Amino acid sequence: MTDRYAVFGHPIAHSKSPLIHAAFARQTGQDMTYEAILAPLDGFAASVAAFAAAGGRGANVTVPFKEQAYQLADRLTPRAQRAGAVNTLKFEAGGTLGDNTDGAGLVADLTRNLKRTLAGKRILLLGAGGAARGAIEPLLDQNPAALVVANRTVSRAEELAALFGRGVVASGFDGLDTPFDLVVNATAASLAGELPPLSPALFTADTLAYDMMYGRDTPFLDFARRHGAATADGLGMLVEQAAEAFLLWRGMRPDTAPVIASLRAA
Ligand code: NDP
Repeated sequence: MTDRYAVFGHPIAHSKSPLIHAAFARQTGQDMTYEAILAPLDGFAASVAAFAAAGGRGANVTVPFKEQAYQLADRLTPRAQRAGAVNTLKFEAGGTLGDNTDGAGLVADLTRNLKRTLAGKRILLLGAGGAARGAIEPLLDQNPAALVVANRTVSRAEELAALFGRGVVASGFDGLDTPFDLVVNATAASLAGELPPLSPALFTADTLAYDMMYGRDTPFLDFARRHGAATADGLGMLVEQAAEAFLLWRGMRPDTAPVIASLRAA
């Protein structure tokens, strides 16, 4: 029987996840479908329950439902627990398992696709929302020399530093004026076409500036490029988080490179 999967969000029409999972299924010969479901803003849990009751095997969850998915899961993976948000659900006989594959997707993109080593490197993570929080533990697991979390509202960065410990340093944007090997933009500024107030001194020719946003060039990537850094957008992260979800559901990790290449070409 064909297994059903879906992504829930609001809005959802723009989602590339159905394309990505269809490509994974073709590549691995899995008998499955994957659809996009627009959940009502006040009806996420009911929408997921209806899909599971109709035979759904698992789901991805995107904006603005990741915290609600965290609440509705019966069990959580340790990384979802630490992220405080869920982007992947697996419907099992014993209940719903919640996982978070976003941070692992970021690290997979950085290390596998962009061939960066993070051990011993200085990392600056901009933002303290859900995407930043999910990235912290996977980044720490790479043993960087330093991980600084900088946010417009400094108290939110301080909360994350206290939550994760392990040497994470909280900061505002002011006063950050030494170079980093990796600067990850996990703020929503790019969505609004805005640039956080960053010093050019963060970037050198050895810096990789990574924006989690994808689909268009951003003021952050443009600024970093003008100050000599290499740049990457979040398309690889999107495909890699999907591959991690696919692994959880199907027990196999697809080859992401051809899927990233075809999305870039489209
Ligand atoms: P949240 O709304 O949870 O977090 C927003 C963060 O951005 C906060 O830290 C907020 O700061 C900061 N922020 C918002 N506007 C500005 C601004 N103008 N200047 C500086 N800081 C700002 O969003 P998410 O964490 O869910 O998402 C963040 C980004 O990551 C989005 O662009 C999203 O598309 C992307 N993303 C990409 C993924 C991928 O697979 N590639 C996966 C997940 C997310 P403050 O606390 O001060 O309000």
